[in-house]
Amino acid sequence: MKVNKFFLLCMVSGVLLFGGVSCNKETGKVNIFTLQDDIDLGNQLAEEIANDPVNFPLLSRTQYPEAYERLDSILDAFLATGHVAHADAFPWTAYIIHNDSLINAFATPGGHVYFYTGLIKALDNEAMFAGVVAHEMAHCALRHSTDRLTRHYGLSMLLAVVLGENPSMLAKIASEIGSGLASLAYSRRQEYEADEFAVKYMSSTEYHPMALADFFTKLEDMPHPPTFLSTHPSPEDRMEKIEEAWIKYGSHVGEYFEDRYQAFKNSLP
Ligand SMILES: [Zn+2]
Repeated sequence: MKVNKFFLLCMVSGVLLFGGVSCNKETGKVNIFTLQDDIDLGNQLAEEIANDPVNFPLLSRTQYPEAYERLDSILDAFLATGHVAHADAFPWTAYIIHNDSLINAFATPGGHVYFYTGLIKALDNEAMFAGVVAHEMAHCALRHSTDRLTRHYGLSMLLAVVLGENPSMLAKIASEIGSGLASLAYSRRQEYEADEFAVKYMSSTEYHPMALADFFTKLEDMPHPPTFLSTHPSPEDRMEKIEEAWIKYGSHVGEYFEDRYQAFKNSLP
């Protein structure tokens, strides 16, 4: 289909004016996805992950109730702060992936957060791990994935909206993410933002927010630092900004919960 530029511009501004496109309140960025899209997309991805036990060997909730009880209590502590956007709208769910060799964590849109046993076992205390949990939750709450997808799909998505609701679009996007065609990789700005919000959330809990900075020190000191560090902003820059955020949100002094964390680690296979 050939469309002249002026016509396209009119259509795009029409969409911007008459709905379908909203500004992400938290980040101030245009996000062409709705809140329900975040939820639907996240649920689809979570289902794909659940159906792929070779790549994502999820720890069973029924087999490891103690581990999940602890993990859920960390999520609940953040959701109760009143600072996590969409705390009531998203189906917040945490998962543990049984793979000791991966020091990693990730999130889907809409509040599904995943943590590898390799990450949990590498850390020293619950506050440090809670910092990572808060960071992943911030990516969801700030809708970073759909902000990125908005850039990736841009005009083609806008056209789909203009030309009528396209129900298969989300399924298409989910499969493109699964096959690596569309990336959910976050930008540097989004990483800093997730760090800052993690500190903000932590400042309203029992956890010491600076444990998030300790997490990066810990990663740096590892003989083989995890690869995701190399794609993120440098740990030094992040630690500096985390400290700035800590002061900004009141220099809250919390606890580390070392013993409780040891029990959490012991409850894993
Ligand atoms: Zn991140």
